[in-house]
Amino acid sequence: MKLVLLGPPGAGKGTQAKMLMEKFAIPQISTGDMLRAAVKDGTPMGRKAKEYMDAGGLVPDEVVVGIVRDRLLEADCASGFILDGFPRTVAQADALQVSFQEMGKELDRVISLEVDTDALVERLTGRRTCSECGRGYHVTFDPSLQPGTCDACGGALIQRDDDKEETIRKRLQVYTEQTAPLISYYQDADVLMKVDGMLPITQVQEKMLSLLQAS
Ligand code: ADP
Ligand code: AMP
Repeated sequence: MKLVLLGPPGAGKGTQAKMLMEKFAIPQISTGDMLRAAVKDGTPMGRKAKEYMDAGGLVPDEVVVGIVRDRLLEADCASGFILDGFPRTVAQADALQVSFQEMGKELDRVISLEVDTDALVERLTGRRTCSECGRGYHVTFDPSLQPGTCDACGGALIQRDDDKEETIRKRLQVYTEQTAPLISYYQDADVLMKVDGMLPITQVQEKMLSLLQAS
């Protein structure tokens, strides 16, 4: 299955992608995670990307497109993948189409997670991530058993630098201006399915699975 998860920051793309990854045994490809890894490693690309990420803007298309193109050629993507946070602009979606053509593959589905703005802000301000294994939590909606500690590996839970209210507002504005047009882009390509992302995490997952299994 070759799937794109579309939706604003905080919609639940990462949360759902991790569940689908286990269910279908295909990798989650999160450009946000890959960029954060490059920032942590202090690579030249990471240093350049950090400026855009800290400001709540998008990293330039050519940088992100290059990362994804290389990642899709890796062996574990042969039987499918879940793109999470990519594409985020029409130019990225066009570039993805070119990559698919080069690989002789086709995109199966795009799932758009629909969530109200107020809920997004609440989700992003309460998001916590394990600094060791990357597992995501929410202080209210998906808390760890022990505050500040990962249930899976015991690592420390941290708040992302860009999950501060001011940066969140900027990221939501960037989403509306640059990413939301992809909803009609993929509707026109007849691959879009909308899911109510306001439902609790397990119900969103059930809806997604039933749609994917029916299609
Ligand atoms: P995205 O990858 O789209 O930015 P995440 O998957 O990281 O979003 O989710 C953002 C935050 O919201 C996380 O703290 C997560 O635990 C929480 N969350 C995800 N889905 C839901 C949901 N359906 N209801 C409530 N909280 C959710
Ligand atoms: P995310 O983890 O998906 O919320 O992404 C965090 C940040 O990484 C974004 O706010 C952008 O600065 C950057 N980023 C992630 N994916 C992309 C992308 N496809 N295009 C441009 N920038 C991206």
